[in-house]
Amino acid sequence: MEHITEGKLFKNVIKNIESAAAVVNCDKNVLTRLRQPRRSITVSVPVRMDDGNVKVFTGHRVQYSGTLGPYKGGIRYHQDVDISEVTGLAALMTFKCSLLKLPLGGAKGGVKVDPNTLSRAENQALTRRFTTEIAPFIGPQEDIPAPDVGTNGQTMAWLMDTYSQQKGFAVPAVVTGKPIEIGGSLGRVSSTGYGVIYIAEKALHTLNKSLKGSTIAIQGFGNVGQHAAILASELGMRITAVSDVSGGIFNGDGLNVKDVLEYIAKNKVLKGYPNAQEITNEELLVLDVDVLAPCALDNVITGKNADKVKAKVIVEGANGPVDADADAILSRKGTLVVPDILANGGGVIVSYFEWVQDISNYFWDEEEINTNMRKIIVDAFNRTWALAKEKNVGMRSAAMGVAIKHLERAMLLRGLYPR
Ligand code: NAD
Repeated sequence: MEHITEGKLFKNVIKNIESAAAVVNCDKNVLTRLRQPRRSITVSVPVRMDDGNVKVFTGHRVQYSGTLGPYKGGIRYHQDVDISEVTGLAALMTFKCSLLKLPLGGAKGGVKVDPNTLSRAENQALTRRFTTEIAPFIGPQEDIPAPDVGTNGQTMAWLMDTYSQQKGFAVPAVVTGKPIEIGGSLGRVSSTGYGVIYIAEKALHTLNKSLKGSTIAIQGFGNVGQHAAILASELGMRITAVSDVSGGIFNGDGLNVKDVLEYIAKNKVLKGYPNAQEITNEELLVLDVDVLAPCALDNVITGKNADKVKAKVIVEGANGPVDADADAILSRKGTLVVPDILANGGGVIVSYFEWVQDISNYFWDEEEINTNMRKIIVDAFNRTWALAKEKNVGMRSAAMGVAIKHLERAMLLRGLYPR
């Protein structure tokens, strides 16, 4: 499996697993098993393009661990997808589900393609053929995909339809992140952003501060950033800055989120918003706020700017926004960094609820979904905080440690087949 272990992301994940395993004194045979995926599937995906020619794309589905339940993880369409990256992401899903104590394993999938170059018909044909190629390995009890970078609810609808056509009846539980009309869940769209704020509230409590009246700056005003801003404002936080790819906006008295959302609905980007001062994304990251929520890209807080970060709490809404150099600097400064596998876990929790609702054919209201999601994410925060204090380590190592410990217990209980 050499090619699997070559990529930077996979190597980083393994490094994190190994250092957290040392913190919690993980069984050495369990650790040996955790360094490898359970199953990697690579498929050819031939597609007749609109010009009549056939192109063959490469797709992967990696099922990293099935100890805790059916495999679960997104499907990514991106030109940089490769087997190593997909494996690293599948490993991260494994530890995220374990940390949150969801009865799910970890997986990830992807097709090496720039989706922006495909017509709708080509995208649909690619999705249906990829689904067919991995169909023997997925299913409500086997492996449940979801959207990721470059895929969305429509992609999941095509996946669900293709799988259902082959079975001869509707199988909504084969995939999550579906539109509501075909078995999607209320609260899925807002879940990751809301989870970020539930976590911010817990993190502030550890500093004897309350959410109400605290200040927050949010980088990224897409799905995660917008819903984080909506809940933060409902709960009485002062949102002093938000940003997107066009730059940032700042208002020391607090932005009117409803007004900003109306502006972006009309203008697509934040640039030009009238009731605030223009700032850059770099300036947003070093504002004097209680909470900084990077909800856009990876590696935005690095060895170069970590020293200037003034926020007391960083909640990683995006995947990997704080790099390892920055982590060391922030830890010296005493900044509380809540890592991605915990902070953006709201999404996979509500995906889990979607699967449960599909299987039981009974749908919950939004309040029930948000209340139950909050319970699960706050419980994971409490367990992570307790381990961080007990072992005197940062929240990143503690989150991974909690995840490894839960998985270790399950693996030892199930044992190794055949001996
Ligand atoms: P999105 O595409 O809806 O929004 C991304 C936002 O980032 C947009 O506002 C975009 O303008 C902004 N952005 C892009 N380039 C930027 C730049 N150079 N500087 C500043 N802002 C920039 O994506 P999303 O679903 O909100 O996801 C954001 C992050 O959260 C990603 O890292 C994603 O992997 C992670 N995440 C998302 C979910 C989810 O449920 N959506 C779950 C877990 C993790």
